[in-house]
Amino acid sequence: MNQIFIHHLFFYGLHSMDPQSYKKTLLDTLYAPYVHCVACPLGTLGRNSVVFGEGNPDARLMFIGEGPGADEDMQNRPFIGRSGRLLTATLEKFNISRKEVYITNIVKCRPPNNRKPTEQESTICKNILLLNQIKIIRPTVICTLGSSALAGLLQKEVKITQMRGIPIPAKTLVIFPTYHPAYILRNARELNTFCDDIDTAIKLAYKK
Ligand code: URA
Repeated sequence: MNQIFIHHLFFYGLHSMDPQSYKKTLLDTLYAPYVHCVACPLGTLGRNSVVFGEGNPDARLMFIGEGPGADEDMQNRPFIGRSGRLLTATLEKFNISRKEVYITNIVKCRPPNNRKPTEQESTICKNILLLNQIKIIRPTVICTLGSSALAGLLQKEVKITQMRGIPIPAKTLVIFPTYHPAYILRNARELNTFCDDIDTAIKLAYKK
């Protein structure tokens, strides 16, 4: 946690606020210097928005995708296109609203032509924003969507078909990998697996 957070914590008495408002203030403070971020090449390759993330700042369950697509870039909101609608509908199937969880991406800027983010782009963005978002929100479970999010978080090559559905214990939380919803839109036969994984992630997070 950097000096700005510590400054806010002590000088503005944020520790006396409720956790949601306190964490929202910290997230806003984290985002503010990066709304026009050019720390990695994606900042100068035609993106409109730095899509920070949205949802409950005090969420037990956090979703991490690959990067914003065209719809997300235009509206500055994560997962609101076709993939997002599938994710939202799957959560609702298990009585969880998207407002209850936190949704973000490994990179916050749309890669040109929806190409995969490079390792350099993922690492830079993760270190500046994602790791601090995780520190502030302190989720119980991080559900990674697709291989880019998992590889970016673990910083190693991954095989999503082999790793999905198996919890990975980390220090204070569990990483739970599943497929990216865009893959499910192209491979409908995996829809049940995807739904089961989301159900498991919810159960792990809420100890249902
Ligand atoms: N795909 C992603 O990985 N993230 C989004 O926000 C939208 C589509």
